[in-house]
Amino acid sequence: MSEEIQRFTCIVCPLGCSLTVTQQPGQAEPAVTGNRCQRGLEYGRTEVSDPRRILTTTISLTGATLRRLPVKTAAPLPKQFLLPGAEALRKVSVAAPVRLGEVILPDLLGTGVAVVATRGVPPGS
Ligand code: SF4
Repeated sequence: MSEEIQRFTCIVCPLGCSLTVTQQPGQAEPAVTGNRCQRGLEYGRTEVSDPRRILTTTISLTGATLRRLPVKTAAPLPKQFLLPGAEALRKVSVAAPVRLGEVILPDLLGTGVAVVATRGVPPGS
């Protein structure tokens, strides 16, 4: 096994540092350079071993003028669950009222990650 080097942009904050992640043979954790903070170090390591993203989308809403409710996952999902997760949420519908941050689904596709409302919809709106 030879040294593996990956380069990408950190997306944790707007600074967008250019990260270089180097995995040496036999090394437990890859080395990360180009990061300006600890969060970038953790992002770089996770991105090469278990890349994850927050899923944001909308779901059907009834009982309100608004037809779609914006939602997001409460934590980043493994990347392979993004498309199936979006597909599963296309079939979900909720009725107003909905509170901001209300849990819409407690466990999306068995990932243990909840889906929450990112907008509140008061009764009769
Ligand atoms: S490494 Fe730190 S400062 Fe740089 S983009 Fe990532 S989170 Fe922001």
